[in-house]
Amino acid sequence: MCGIVGYVGNKPARSLLIEGLKRLEYRGYDSAGIAIMNGSGVETVKEAGKISRLEALLAGSPVDGTTGIAHTRWATHGPPTRTNAHPHLSADGTIAVVHNGIIENYLTLRAHLEARGHRFRSQTDTEVLAHLIEDELAGLDGYTADARSCRLRVAVRGALGRVQGAYAIAVLSLSEPAVLVGACRHAPLVVGLGTD
Ligand code: GLU
Repeated sequence: MCGIVGYVGNKPARSLLIEGLKRLEYRGYDSAGIAIMNGSGVETVKEAGKISRLEALLAGSPVDGTTGIAHTRWATHGPPTRTNAHPHLSADGTIAVVHNGIIENYLTLRAHLEARGHRFRSQTDTEVLAHLIEDELAGLDGYTADARSCRLRVAVRGALGRVQGAYAIAVLSLSEPAVLVGACRHAPLVVGLGTD
């Protein structure tokens, strides 16, 4: 298990996320990645190896926005490649997930999702979460969100109801660009609340 960090607010997310990843570096990792809501879509940059390699990629093509998530991975399912690095996206690319831990029933969930037409990009257990949340969101047509219960939160809760294992996750969705959803089970997750 390694590290996740997320930010939603008024400041540019990228440098805050990279700083967060560096503070989690002591836990050990094999790859790193970042997803930021760039105003028109969810943009991901990921790389095998050190955070410095991710930073080099970001220097070449910066991603900017005020909502984002990032990850340092310690692979449990799928080798430590760029493709298997987090964040992982839903089939339509609008939902991004970072995850620490293991989804024990991911093979069953993946087979079920593939039978429903979802195409997977990675070999990780994590990717099922992005597809499950996508399905749950699609099933929420007609649901009216309020301040305490946005659609993404309801969808994440629904998806996690189908998952076995230990996890801490952070999720963002293009459909609710100023929202970050976090959840954990048998794994630590800390929320910091600041002004704005
Ligand atoms: N099981 C996930 C993977 O292999 C997450 C590993 C982690 O906690 O870094 O991608």
